[in-house]
Amino acid sequence: MTKPYADREVWFLTGSQDLYGEETLRQVAEQSQAIARELEAAEAVPVRIVWKPVLKDSDAIRRMALEANAADRCIGVIAWMHTFSPAKMWIAGLDALRTPLLHLHTQANVELPWSTIDFDFMNLNQAAHGDREFGYIQSRLGVARKTVVGHVSNPTVQARVGTWARAAAGWAATHELKLARFGDNMRNVAVTEGDKTEAELRFGVSVNTWGVNDLVAAVAAVDESAVDAVVAEYEDLYDVAPELRAGGERHDSLRYGARQEVALLSLLGEIGATAFTTTFEDLGDLRQLPGLAVQRLMAKGFGFGAEGDWKTALLVRAAKVMGEGLPGGASLMEDYTYNLVPGDEKILGAHMLEICPSLTTSKPSLEIHPLGIGGKEDPVRLVFDTDPGPGVVVALSDMRDRFRLTANAVDIVAPDAALPNLPVARAVWKPKPDFATSAEAWLMAGAAHHTVLTTQVGMEAFEDFSDIARTELLSIDDGTTARGFAQEIRWNHAYYRLAQGF
Ligand code: MN
Repeated sequence: MTKPYADREVWFLTGSQDLYGEETLRQVAEQSQAIARELEAAEAVPVRIVWKPVLKDSDAIRRMALEANAADRCIGVIAWMHTFSPAKMWIAGLDALRTPLLHLHTQANVELPWSTIDFDFMNLNQAAHGDREFGYIQSRLGVARKTVVGHVSNPTVQARVGTWARAAAGWAATHELKLARFGDNMRNVAVTEGDKTEAELRFGVSVNTWGVNDLVAAVAAVDESAVDAVVAEYEDLYDVAPELRAGGERHDSLRYGARQEVALLSLLGEIGATAFTTTFEDLGDLRQLPGLAVQRLMAKGFGFGAEGDWKTALLVRAAKVMGEGLPGGASLMEDYTYNLVPGDEKILGAHMLEICPSLTTSKPSLEIHPLGIGGKEDPVRLVFDTDPGPGVVVALSDMRDRFRLTANAVDIVAPDAALPNLPVARAVWKPKPDFATSAEAWLMAGAAHHTVLTTQVGMEAFEDFSDIARTELLSIDDGTTARGFAQEIRWNHAYYRLAQGF
């Protein structure tokens, strides 16, 4: 089985001590290897699990933490105390550890061997208190971690470990992320602004700008044969409008869209960027706002934010990586307009152009329509409806002294009727717990109108990501009430200020 993150590892660390003698420690090693193997074999776990020799003293633990920090391939560590591992031994290591941590509270056996249990068994299988000792020191040191409880054969345990590994992969990706901006934020818009320096410290992302002239030059440099190849791909994958097909009166517009795609791909490749932004207010000599090109690049895994929104581009890239290999997709999304029929409230999300076709399994149509703003030629774009099913929308706001993630669990539904006059890709959803509570909470949180919509991972992945990033996450789901949410915001204001120190 090929893992989605085949070149990444999560290290499996087992805690013990010298006290038990060779025979017991041999069993600890064998049984912890079996547990690591079972996790590795689980389909829900998307990464290689690499077992490490049993840790028995402070120095070995500290060295293992430093090794994990230094190894780019290691995106996280799982720790389990099979026996009792006196936790002062873990202080130096946990203090040094910068790699995401999962505390797996498990044991080798499922059933307690009632008729044969003796004190040797008790000595060997004492995670029930060994892990409590470990939990204490993690809490005392304020170590961010995910705690997962249960036998490794339990599908829920495997799924929760897998989700955490996906969040850790997202975390690794934002640390490797170079984010290229073509043009600044849309003029006068507040929520798409943010502290790029703080973002590099918090998420590891490097956000920088390139002149739109660089993109204009890259577009001009594209070879006709490269355009031919991409246009052929369009004809294969999409229902291309007759006016855009070869021989059609607007075929040249399609070729220009293809040219933008090739240029963006090669320029971003040169920069080493896996996320980018554009803005319709700064297109220089580009003939069209890149719409189709952006859709196609998102489908290849690039993060994207419109109107210079680099924070949403970061989220789209993180969601793409977290969802690697799973059905569904992830895209820039924008809350646009509502169906306010009582009891049947829905949100229609879309954007000017830039919605990722990974959100649909249907065949998009490739069309050309006027844009209405920006004063450029009509842009080509893919038009489709997002597949129905569960999803999450997530926004990232800069709250002056910190970043805030806000996430809402949603059910994507089919539109009530065909939308023949809406010339953009879209999604229709019912937010949880209900429309009014969701929107009230969203507005109280100061969460953005730009989001990432993902249908590949759920709320838990973003909860894990925010815990790893030590960044606030406000979750809006079935358990949310407006009153409770308002209180949570107040508490968080105090907590995050205190947690950051002065
Ligand atoms: Mn927008």
